[in-house]
Amino acid sequence: MLPDVGGVYAIVLRLPGATHLRVLGREVWLPAGHYVYVGSARGPGGLRARLGRHLRGDGRPRWHIDALRAAAEVDGFTYWVDEQVTECAVVRAVAALPGATIPIPRFGASDCRQGCVAHLIHVPD
Ligand SMILES: [Zn+2]
Repeated sequence: MLPDVGGVYAIVLRLPGATHLRVLGREVWLPAGHYVYVGSARGPGGLRARLGRHLRGDGRPRWHIDALRAAAEVDGFTYWVDEQVTECAVVRAVAALPGATIPIPRFGASDCRQGCVAHLIHVPD
């Protein structure tokens, strides 16, 4: 059971094949493989509402991640309720992994104030 408090989460998604997405007003092709999406849940219901929604993949499309989620499988997730852990710090840590790349600039980072290129990272298998 996910907690109903606010926090930061990371979801590992796997695209079984190369996938075409329409996000940020353009068409992009994403290669097959693993992606880490980092977000935060600050609204009502906290992590249980937001992360739960992304894990189930339901709800009306609203965020960039919804387009990717629809084509991907969830391979894993984690979350932090410690207020010291910020979304952008997690992004920087994941983006520093060997072989990590940012496939779509600004993806998931519309609200980012810390200069992340995006909050979606492609990671090697
Ligand atoms: Zn950021």
